Formats: sequence, C-alpha cells, structure tokens
Amino acid sequence: MSKVIPLARGAKVVVMTGAGISAESGIRTFRDGNGLWEEHRVEDVASPEGWERDPALVWRFYSDRRAQALTVQPNPAHRALAALEAHLGDDLYLATQNVDPLHEAAGSKRVVHVHGELMKSRCEDESCTTGPFDDTNLYFGELPRCRCGARVRPHIVWFGEVPFEMHAVKRRVQACDWFVTVGSSGVVYPAAGLVREVTYRQSMGEAVRSVYVGLEAPANADAFNEVVIGKAGEVLPGLFAPV
Ligand code: NAD
Repeated sequence: MSKVIPLARGAKVVVMTGAGISAESGIRTFRDGNGLWEEHRVEDVASPEGWERDPALVWRFYSDRRAQALTVQPNPAHRALAALEAHLGDDLYLATQNVDPLHEAAGSKRVVHVHGELMKSRCEDESCTTGPFDDTNLYFGELPRCRCGARVRPHIVWFGEVPFEMHAVKRRVQACDWFVTVGSSGVVYPAAGLVREVTYRQSMGEAVRSVYVGLEAPANADAFNEVVIGKAGEVLPGLFAPV
C-alpha cells in the first residue's frame, strides 16, 4: 500500500520541493546531466565566479532556461500541492529549491523560492531600490543594465550565495506537524539540513514526522522517518488524506 499522511484539522505541513518534482514536466535535474546543467558546467553558469568570467554567457543560459520553462506544464505533483494549499490555506508552507514557475502555474499562491526565480532579475547594486524585475518573456542575449548603470543579474541564488528566506523556512519547520521533502538529492545545503530540525524536535519528545518522496533515497535519508520511493507525480496525488 502506498504512503498516506492523515491530516487532522489544523495540521501544519511544510513541504520542500527539489528539482525532482519538475522532472516529469520535462525540466531536467542536475543528476540527469552528470553534474552538468543542460550541458553546462554548474560553476560556469551558477556561481559568482562564472558570472564574473562571462556574464553574457550566463544570461544566454538563463534566457534559454526561461524560454524552456515557458513550454512545459505542471504535473500531478505540482497540482496535488496546489490542491493541498486550497484545503489547508496558511497551514501549508510550500518552499521550493526550484527556480521554475511550475508551482505557481499549478495554482499555488504562496510559494517561497529559496534559490530564486527564473523569471526574475535584479540590479546587481544592492543599494539600488528598483526591482526585482519580472521579465518572463524577455531573452537577454547580451548583458542587460539597470537604469542606475549597474549590471542586471538573474534573480537566482548561485552556489556560494545565501539562500532566501531560510530563517522563515526554519521557523515553520520548527512549528510543523509534518515535514515533507520531494525530489531533492539531499546534498545542497542549507535546505538538506532542514530535516535535522525535525530530528531534534523528536529528541525533545515532540510528535512531528518527516517523509521523503523521490525516485531514490537521498543522501540525508537516515534523517527522515519515512522514505517513499516513487515518482512525485504518482505519489503526491494520494499522499495527503484529510481526516
Ligand atoms: P538534484 O538534481 O540534485 O536531485 C534531484 C532529485 O530528484 C534526485 O534525488 C532524483 O532521484 C529525484 N528525482 C528525479 N526524478 C524524480 C521524479 N520524477 N520524482 C521524484 N523525484 C525525482 O536536485 P536538487 O537536490 O533539487 O538540487 C539541485 C539544485 O539545482 C537545486 O537547488 C535547484 O535550485 C537547482 N535546479 C533547479 C531546477 C528547476 O528549477 N526545475 C532544475 C535543475 C536544478
């Protein structure tokens, strides 16, 4: 029998999604590419050093990712989480490591993108008050500039940079009844460390539970109470059962 999470009225759920949830929509994970992201070395297109070396290449890369993301559709896993939000409201806290807009496309209204968003850019000068800019349909073949003159960069958290909203995410994990991670290899920190908050709370006698859903056991599998092996699009639609 497949895993079912019984949700009593008022149950608080935190879900953290990773690249695996978008795989069935046709967006490749890192692991599919043997450490390459769509044929590029991650350090060339997803690090501050790569940006300094060749910003126009970085912009062409993210412009291509944007264009691709606009051609794909959310899958049943994204839709199951949108339906869960419609049921739980604020008691569902949905955070994603993904930069694609598929949760929103499925109807989720409150999505926290801890690694940024593909469809946005921002001025590189942190003292500039414009932006982030929504440039869903823009393709930057060259390096765009802000009206203040500084370079405009993708609104993406690159390796070595600090993820967004992690304090808020952590606080929600510290107060939830269920922590569910979907399709994340468990090697990218600090997101991969969130499940340890649950382990700590359990050691203090709290009744919180953690579940992982994905194609294979993640690197941090030992920290989860349950690991459900399967495709996100097949497991998630039947995972949550309001009681
Ligand atoms: P990852 O590529 O390291 O791991 C993906 C995980 O998903 C793997 O463990 C794999 O077994 C699992 N998986 C693959 N297909 C699945 C399916 N159909 N159902 C369930 N699980 C499946 O990804 P990560 O751990 O999320 O971290 C890599 C980083 O790369 C993330 O921070 C993210 O920002 C970035 N990234 C994002 C996207 C995107 O926005 N869609 C795509 C690639 C990489």
